[in-house]
Formats: sequence, structure tokens, C-alpha cells
Amino acid sequence: MSPSVVVVGGGYGGYKIAKTLDGVAEVTLVDPSDAFLHNVASWRALVEPEWLDRIFFPYDRLLRHGRFLRDRAVEVDGRRVTLASGTRLEPDYLVLATGSYYPSPAKWGDADSATARAGMRASHEALRGAARVLVVGAGPAGLELAGEIKTTFPDKRVIVADQAPDVLAGPFDQELREELRRQLDKLGVELALGSPLRGLPDVEPATAGNVSVTNEDGDEMAADVWFRCFGVVPATGYLRGALAEARDEAGYLRVDDQLRVVGQERVFAIGDISDAERNMAGLAGFQADFLAANLTVLITGEGELGRYRINPPMIAVPLGPEGGAGQFPGFDGIVPAEVVADVKGRAMLVDKHLEQFDAAKG
Ligand SMILES: Cc1cc2nc3c(=O)[nH]c(=O)nc-3n(C[C@H](O)[C@H](O)[C@H](O)COP(=O)(O)OP(=O)(O)OC[C@H]3O[C@@H](n4cnc5c(N)ncnc54)[C@H](O)[C@@H]3O)c2cc1C
Repeated sequence: MSPSVVVVGGGYGGYKIAKTLDGVAEVTLVDPSDAFLHNVASWRALVEPEWLDRIFFPYDRLLRHGRFLRDRAVEVDGRRVTLASGTRLEPDYLVLATGSYYPSPAKWGDADSATARAGMRASHEALRGAARVLVVGAGPAGLELAGEIKTTFPDKRVIVADQAPDVLAGPFDQELREELRRQLDKLGVELALGSPLRGLPDVEPATAGNVSVTNEDGDEMAADVWFRCFGVVPATGYLRGALAEARDEAGYLRVDDQLRVVGQERVFAIGDISDAERNMAGLAGFQADFLAANLTVLITGEGELGRYRINPPMIAVPLGPEGGAGQFPGFDGIVPAEVVADVKGRAMLVDKHLEQFDAAKG
């Protein structure tokens, strides 16, 4: 019998490694939702709800040989996994891929697809009815959201507020920030940077209401809806014992250069839950590919184990389907809007995931 692999969490990293190892090992994928949410395209679905039909991928179409358990890990201690249903698993290899929480309507925690769809429709209605929108957070998610809103609803007033002095914190070229600011300005997005808010609005995010905030500079901002575009929190509350101890100060699981959780022999972590790299879907996918190759070596006894190498900075920030800019390794200078639109902005990478959820093809 093939060795068993349990993957906890079916996000970008988890579904990919489960799919890649399907057939090589006896794979079990565990996720409390019925469908993978391609949250990279959540903002597009927020402004154009017909996209809701393109961003949920049912797990029952993923694996041909392995099984999908719609369940939640409530305790994981070493390789011992206890699920909410009471089922216990103790596989030969355990992959933790529970990712991170992020405010809705971008992500929906472990809600099922019907709940997430209904929530995104309600958020769309709140946005549609708003003349003024406040986006708190000028990272890639906040900028993309502002770009989507202004492209679809050019008459709405959109303000992006952040305590950071510039847009897009992180290891990126200043030229990229300048290009994004230039395009945002052209779209009519207003920036209120370099001053922390005295407090968050007392209205729920993504909900219609009288939003009013003031920053430390004394600027008052009023809106009819606001979106919280900061606050990635790794999902690790179910870890026990040495695994819980393996978290760093920020809550990420520390892994070695084979993505093995420190101090564990056959427990691995990929994606946003791990401290391997920045929180990105693309990197979760790279880590899934890397670990699938290494686990295949361990399972078959053939080939050599690789060491995971940190990737250089890379990002594509669409501002609507045709706008935006990016930075790619090996690309000379800033990646222009046409290229960002080709690789991401127009189709939002939906086909890439669609082709993985093809088990029904037999
Ligand atoms: C608006 C927005 C836009 C983004 N755009 C980009 C982009 O363009 N490019 C990019 O690279 N990154 C982007 N990101 C970042 C990207 O979404 C994350 O890095 C990515 O989701 C991480 O994938 P993951 O596989 O680690 O986990 P996640 O996608 O967070 O998935 C985790 C899965 O684990 C499940 N789970 C959680 N707890 C449990 C449990 N106890 N038991 C079982 N299952 C559990 C959840 O239900 C979920 O399905 C964006 C993020 C946002 C919010």
C-alpha cells in the first residue's frame, strides 16, 4: 500500500499538493468548505458579481484517487490529527496548509461557498449604493480594490488611507510605487498616507453606513462604506504541543529549507501559515510543487531531495482589467499595464485553477 499523506487546508498550496500527489500516495485533503475560493479574484467578483460563478471550485472535482473530507482540524499534535467530526488521522506524512484569515469579502474563513457568495453579493450591494468609499490599507489588496472600484464605478469617490508614507510597502522598486501612484491619480483615487487613523470606523466593513474617521494629521474622512484591506492572520489555532511551540512571534510556523516544521520529522507546512516566504498565492503554489517533488522522493526512494530557495520579489498589481503595474524577476524595469493585464488583470488566472479541478473528465 502507498504511504498516506494528509493535507490540512485546501487553499492555493493545499489543493495543489493534494492534486500533485494524487496517485503517488494515498492522499486525504481536509477542508471545512465545499469549494476552493480563488480569493485573488475576489475584488473582481465584488464589483462584477457575475464573476462569482468563476471563483469557486468544488473540491469533489479535484482528486481522482484520493479522498476529500469536508471537515475541520480541531487538534493537531505531531502527526495526530483530530477533526471536528471526531475522526482521527495519523498519516505517514502530514502537510499543514491552513493559510491565513483575511477580512471579508476577500476571504471567508472556513465558510461554505453559499455563505461566501451571499456575503459577497451583500457587499456588492453596499458598494453599489455608496457614493463615497474608504479603503483602509495601501498594500496590494487595497490598491487593487481601489482600482477595481474606480474602473467599474468611475463616479464614486474613493479614498485609500494608510499610516505608511507610501503605497505598497515591501521589497519592491520605488519606480513601481511611482507608476502605481501615477495610475491611481489618473483614475481619480485619493490617497491619505503617512498618518495612522485615530480609530477604525464603528460601522462593520463592507456594510452600508455612516463611516467617519480621522487620522493623526487631523484629516476627516467620511464614506458610505469602508473596506478593511489589512490584517493577515495565520490560521494555527488548532496546533498543540511542539507544533504550537514552533510558531514565531507573529504566529507563523517555522520551517526548515525542506519546508519541514522545525523539530518535526514528517510534518510540513506550506503557504501563508509558514514563515518560509511572503504571504502570496503564487508562492504557496511554488511551495506545493517543491514539497510534492520532495515527498515523491521520500515515498518512492528515487531521486534526490531538494532545498527550498527563497524567491526574488515579484508582484503584479492590476488596477482594473487593463491597468496596473508589476515587478518580475528577470524583467527589465517595471512591468507595464499591458503585460499585467495579459498575465493577470483580464482573466484573473481563473483558467489556471479551472484546469486542476478536472477529475470529472475521468
Ligand atoms: C484580495 C486579495 C488579493 C490577493 N491577490 C494575490 C495575488 O494576486 N497574487 C498572490 O500571489 N497572492 C495574492 N493574495 C494572497 C493570497 O490570497 C494568499 O497568499 C493565499 O490565499 C495563501 O494560500 P494558502 O494556500 O496558504 O491558504 P489559503 O488560501 O488561506 O487557504 C487555507 C485553506 O485552509 C482551510 N482551513 C483553515 N483552517 C482549517 C482547519 N482548521 N482545518 C481544515 N482546513 C482549514 C480554509 O478553509 C482554506 O480553504 C491576495 C490576497 C487577498 C486577500
